[in-house]
Amino acid sequence: MSDTTPSTTCVFRCGAPVPPELATERMCVLHFTLCVERSCAEMRRESASGRLTSARQAHIARGLSGYAATLASVGTGTQRLSDELKRRILSTFLTVMVMRESLYRSAESEVAKYSSTAHLSRTA
Ligand SMILES: [Zn+2]
Repeated sequence: MSDTTPSTTCVFRCGAPVPPELATERMCVLHFTLCVERSCAEMRRESASGRLTSARQAHIARGLSGYAATLASVGTGTQRLSDELKRRILSTFLTVMVMRESLYRSAESEVAKYSSTAHLSRTA
């Protein structure tokens, strides 16, 4: 016997259904995408500060992979999604991709900075 009633309610008490793919997060699709967007904005600020350690970069990269996987499973999951929610998932997915790219660039510029510093110290 299948039970299609959501077993949990959104932690934001918006009344929207929580898909099985977001049962752990206990969030509806809209609130999950909003949380991911906010989290990416915080990561972007942190990354722009240029003070990310490689361990922190790796941690953020893992978080982004997790978001991407969850968004994909929600997007192809069992809950029927409105066109608006589909657009939202795609837009949030793009935000995650852009953040990942920005993280790579930040890591590459750190390597370049280190290399040029090492080069300068060798020539000095
Ligand atoms: Zn909600």
